[in-house]
Amino acid sequence: MENKVKGVVVRDKTRAFNIGKKMILAIQNNGAIPKCGNCGVVLPLKDGIGCHTDPWAHGNDTELKNGWYGCKPCNDNQGKMKLCGWKKSEKYKKFMIKRNKEVENDK
Ligand SMILES: [Zn+2]
Repeated sequence: MENKVKGVVVRDKTRAFNIGKKMILAIQNNGAIPKCGNCGVVLPLKDGIGCHTDPWAHGNDTELKNGWYGCKPCNDNQGKMKLCGWKKSEKYKKFMIKRNKEVENDK
């Protein structure tokens, strides 16, 4: 009965990238040393996140072709934006000024 209600989207898709996919994304982006695909901070697999290029929240799949390997601050700031839209936004510019300083301080 509930499944027939109009406008209800039934989703059983996986939101998180599994460790294998995460590893592949990390290697694709950064070679031997895993780094955030956005800010470039060195990022061990246990700390890295399989991020969505086109957000899961908008109905996009957790597939390698829709993934990038990133750190939590970058993933949090991207939020529900598409990666390309995020990178063109004012929010991104402000975030990256702050983030670059943080990354520098961590070195
Ligand atoms: Zn990052």
